[in-house]
Amino acid sequence: MNGIACAHHADRLALGYCAGCGKPLCSTCLVRLSAGNYCEACARTPGHRPVERRAPPRSRLWVVVGAAAAAAAVILLAARLL
Ligand SMILES: [Zn+2]
Ligand SMILES: [Zn+2]
Repeated sequence: MNGIACAHHADRLALGYCAGCGKPLCSTCLVRLSAGNYCEACARTPGHRPVERRAPPRSRLWVVVGAAAAAAAVILLAARLL
């Protein structure tokens, strides 16, 4: 595990690998995203972020559930006031 040099800085130890291109990266070069660790070039490329693409369907379901709950609460409140 030890002794692997950064792809951009030969005198620095790599802390992790880019999930996009597999390059070893030091703390300066490593970019942490929700999808994983990336080099600067891959972090700017949208195609290397599959996790963000999968998120919408699930969150959309929770928006529907939340809206239904909010509507029920409003109806209950209105029924109490009337
Ligand atoms: Zn990369
Ligand atoms: Zn570096």
